Amino acid sequence: MNKNFDMIVIGGGSGGLAAARRASEYGAKCAVIESGRVGGTCVNVGCVPKKVMWTTSRIAEVLHDAPDYGFSIDSQGFDWSKIKRSRDAYIARLNDIYLNNLRKADVGFIAGRASFASDSKVQVGNNVYQAPHFLIATGGEPIVPPVEGAELGITSDGFFEMERLPKKVVITGAGYIATEFAGMLHGLGSEVIMVLRKDQLLRGFDASVTAVVMDEMARSGIRFVMNNAATNLKKDGSTLTVELSDGSSISGVDEFIFAIGRKPNTAGLNLQAAGVNTDARGFIETDSYQITSNKNIYAVGDVTGRIALTPVAIAAGRKLSDRLFGGQSDAHLDYENIPSVIFSHPPIGTMGLSEAAAQAKYGESVKVYKSEFKNMYYQVTSRTSPTLMKLITVGEDEKVIGCHIVGDNADEIIQGFSVAVKMGARKCDFDNTVAIHPTASEELVTMR
Ligand SMILES: Cc1cc2nc3c(=O)[nH]c(=O)nc-3n(C[C@H](O)[C@H](O)[C@H](O)COP(=O)(O)OP(=O)(O)OC[C@H]3O[C@@H](n4cnc5c(N)ncnc54)[C@H](O)[C@@H]3O)c2cc1C
Repeated sequence: MNKNFDMIVIGGGSGGLAAARRASEYGAKCAVIESGRVGGTCVNVGCVPKKVMWTTSRIAEVLHDAPDYGFSIDSQGFDWSKIKRSRDAYIARLNDIYLNNLRKADVGFIAGRASFASDSKVQVGNNVYQAPHFLIATGGEPIVPPVEGAELGITSDGFFEMERLPKKVVITGAGYIATEFAGMLHGLGSEVIMVLRKDQLLRGFDASVTAVVMDEMARSGIRFVMNNAATNLKKDGSTLTVELSDGSSISGVDEFIFAIGRKPNTAGLNLQAAGVNTDARGFIETDSYQITSNKNIYAVGDVTGRIALTPVAIAAGRKLSDRLFGGQSDAHLDYENIPSVIFSHPPIGTMGLSEAAAQAKYGESVKVYKSEFKNMYYQVTSRTSPTLMKLITVGEDEKVIGCHIVGDNADEIIQGFSVAVKMGARKCDFDNTVAIHPTASEELVTMR
């Protein structure tokens, strides 16, 4: 393989692949270096297998509700290994598709771990490659705290390796991954205990959203152990005993999951040789054009410590290539107003400022519209689940600066509304839109 390229991308995940393929569309000669499975976190141990398991868990709920809708169900139980096999096969297909797409785009693929030899060369094994532009898109990895017996626990990576549904699980962490795993496992029948360092899930999200989701999780049977931390994991026959900081312990645990956050994947990159600086937490510092402290080296995605989501990494990577090779000299990602979804039970769709953040920024000129109700789906079922819709507006013209939804299909509803908010829609624009009936989302255009 030729060892000279226009751009070398380190990391074949969401951001790296998107940047390389876009650059190649402009005629740039690119290579992607990947040490693991092509597709990165999202495809292999993130969004994709997670969504499959969330859907599995949603199906369990629908099966539970089916008799209330008149169906007689003769369920033969749930086979974890069957869905795991199908999920793994789907991911293997995706790995092939991604590799094929690189081939079709004429992007070189180099398998191995990259390390900077200088600011214009990277080394993979005994081979040295050079380019005028480098993109670091190496993502992140789960943090495991220095807890005694930590090796007995697993992280999100291990979650996707589990061969059976654990009967009893302890999850430590308060972020979206912990929240999602708790909901999925509980929905499939595990006993779930969440150990939180403080007393809240999903800090930084709108307080009404977190309150509704936490209440629902607790009501459905997930146990929260708050203001506490795991201090020791011990093997106890075929299960684990988890000792907590308040002196209590939880025994008979089949799996202990660390979901306390992710750290940048920069080990072994030899960033010093390339003159690339990191911040206090180890994330690569970038400006609004994704340029690092070395003007020929860029970084996108989770390794930059910005909003750690696949579409963000992809958009930043594509914009970078538009700028470097597509003649769009000002192309860069606008990190404001990025919508996101938490695949909790019930799911959350959110965009823009929370009520607290809006009030801190705009004070008295903030006006909030909120509605909580029971989705029509649950009017004939014994199981129920809440719905919350909330709009945060600012100023006389009530520009919408926050849109928060909890409830069934929030994951699909928020994308369309995020277009309106991004365009600067006002509350009166929402009001002037005729409702679609009977839906839950009509509430967003009828709220008073
Ligand atoms: C459990 C979980 C669920 C998630 N769910 C969602 C979701 O629903 N929606 C969403 O938008 N996001 C989700 N995410 C986040 C999403 O996966 C990441 O934001 C996204 O993958 C980041 O892309 P990236 O390009 O920055 O890095 P990655 O996709 O992580 O890719 C980095 C790649 O670089 C490779 N690499 C690292 N170091 C080197 C090296 N030195 N040499 C060569 N290769 C190297 C790695 O092997 C990896 O393949 C989830 C993450 C997790 C963990």
